[in-house]
Amino acid sequence: MDSYASQLDALSRKGNLRKLPEMEPQGLYLVRDGQEMLNLSSNDYLGLADNVALKSEFLQTLDPRKCRFSSTSSRLLTGNYPVYTRLEERLAQLYGAESSLVFNSGYHANSGILPAVTDSRSLILADKLVHASIVDGIGLSKARCIRYRHNNYEQLERLVAENAGEYDRLFVVTESIFSMDGDESDLPRLVALKHRYPNLYLYLDEAHAFGVRGPHGLGCAEEHGVIGDIDFLVGTFGKAAASVGAFVICSEEMKQYLVNTMRTLIFTTALPPINLEWTLFIVNKICDMTERREHLARIGRRVREVLNPLNGGILSSSHIIPYVLGESERAVDVALRLQREGFYLLPVRPPTVPAGTSRLRISLTAECSEADIERLVSTIQQIQSSL
Ligand SMILES: *Cc1c(COP(=O)(O)O)cnc(C)c1O
Repeated sequence: MDSYASQLDALSRKGNLRKLPEMEPQGLYLVRDGQEMLNLSSNDYLGLADNVALKSEFLQTLDPRKCRFSSTSSRLLTGNYPVYTRLEERLAQLYGAESSLVFNSGYHANSGILPAVTDSRSLILADKLVHASIVDGIGLSKARCIRYRHNNYEQLERLVAENAGEYDRLFVVTESIFSMDGDESDLPRLVALKHRYPNLYLYLDEAHAFGVRGPHGLGCAEEHGVIGDIDFLVGTFGKAAASVGAFVICSEEMKQYLVNTMRTLIFTTALPPINLEWTLFIVNKICDMTERREHLARIGRRVREVLNPLNGGILSSSHIIPYVLGESERAVDVALRLQREGFYLLPVRPPTVPAGTSRLRISLTAECSEADIERLVSTIQQIQSSL
């Protein structure tokens, strides 16, 4: 058995050793080792996390006698503060759905829902590139699972046709915008597939799309007009919504079922009420942030125009845009060069992405100006021509 030290050495030799970066975010910028850089590595897609006007407005609504920084118990005991109900009712209303349920994080949602709703008579069909939290949920479930090739709907449709009669329930699990490639799943096609099989459930993770896509920022399902066709629509508050937590949009029956069976909901301390108040405050504002969404879409198109042709077939269609560089050492080297030019980008390496596709993950925020983007694009073009 290899010692821990030798395993760490092996990671280091391959350029894959991870460290917790020391840094200090300040609005759109980030200071590290005394250098100020444009932060292109956060998930603060709408640029709300350090918005002083929003923070002040929120703080003015608080009364120290009433606000609480901890719930001190599970929701099933004394942690279910009234703000949970207000937030869940508001989400259900926005989505035009029967119900919604809020969780401590996207990780809690994805690692808890699938184990709760599946059993050994279920089959999970999951996209090859789904987020680690979904992979862990699959690992905890008793269902059989097949991973289909990324966005390969011919393969998915064949797997469904072959297996629909063999299992009580089938769960097709995917993301709307994918974390690492920034591309999207074909929601109308998935919905059409669902309607051909009465025992097929659609599970969609909109972590990167909530706040960013759709006329009211409700995500890609809103953009495509298919909210009502998704059985489990998961969104998170830690990205564009600049808060913490996650939610699922589902039927009232499913909500009750999850409240009774979902271990990552039952066996954890509820979110602090103050965070739920902030989430509700942001959710109420985010619907009308159309200009921010349009600006983000515009700068995304500009960066994709330059990077998509360089990425060997990986085609982003969103504000998450990879710059694929191949071997890890190369990604590390280019990340350092871009950092020296004032762009805080980090290498993403195996096992997060497949070997040979190490990359930088550019995560745009609506706070970036057109000028910032032009400087980014020309710096990348210079570096690219020197590789
Ligand atoms: C970030 C993310 C999560 C996890 O959400 P947290 O609230 O950060 O735990 C889940 N799914 C996807 C696709 C994500 O990008």
